[in-house]
Amino acid sequence: MQRRTFLQTLLLSTGTMLTFSAFKNHIYSQSIDSELMPAMFIGHGSPMNAIEENEFTKEWKKEASLLPIPIAILCISAHWFTRGTFVAVTSQPETIHDFGGFPKALFDTQYPASGAPELAHFTQHIIQSTQVQTDADWGLDHGTWSILKQMYPEAKIPVFQLSIDYAKPPQFHYELGKELLELRKKGVLIIGSGNIVHNLGRVNFQQIDAAYDWNIEFDTKIKNFINTQNHQGVIDYQKLGSIAQLAVPSPDHYLPLLYTLGLQQKNEAATFFNEKYMAGSLSMTSVKIMKG
Ligand code: ZN
Repeated sequence: MQRRTFLQTLLLSTGTMLTFSAFKNHIYSQSIDSELMPAMFIGHGSPMNAIEENEFTKEWKKEASLLPIPIAILCISAHWFTRGTFVAVTSQPETIHDFGGFPKALFDTQYPASGAPELAHFTQHIIQSTQVQTDADWGLDHGTWSILKQMYPEAKIPVFQLSIDYAKPPQFHYELGKELLELRKKGVLIIGSGNIVHNLGRVNFQQIDAAYDWNIEFDTKIKNFINTQNHQGVIDYQKLGSIAQLAVPSPDHYLPLLYTLGLQQKNEAATFFNEKYMAGSLSMTSVKIMKG
């Protein structure tokens, strides 16, 4: 079934353009569909995935084609790591090229999606566990646009980001993820973007398809936790000891997964895609949450 976009619904229901305050009231009061939009965690890997065609990007495109058309996309990216939680209220977010040493073609790549300021304010409103601040400058970092460039190349769907507070423990991020449920009811696609295993210090580009034993072991344990809905095991990943220290030397790429898992409902299944390893110390394992 083709999901009508939120804006189309607004226009159909009123026959005229709404004023901003009416639009805002509409967002705050209405859910357009009782069916929840799926939620995802995507292993983004190298920024080059934005412009390459490979086994990962093919899968991203396929996943996008299987989803209902979202009214907007909220991305929680490893690359917006802040003190405090921020939501971007930018109406025309710039494409941030937050990396170095890549070809000019990647720096020339733009992702001109509009922002979603009304939904961003709504997100600020529904999060109760912490004081969310707005950010009117943040654009789209490469954790966001590198995957969306492949999933939705036309950039017609509005995109906004929520930052990750680096001062908070894993449990905080899981609980915050739960609070975003209302967005799924409205047809917003929520994507956590990171990598379950991400140790750049140990990357070996000579063996692009290889994986260290500790990478496979950690990734497999986390997948088993997810398969058995043992979310606490995923939250308490540090209890896995030395393999966790190697797989997650800093939490930025791991924490987006907790937002996605926080959104899983009792009647929903978690399925995996891109269950592959890269360059020894990266895992591309990705998760989709939807009704089983
Ligand atoms: Zn990254």
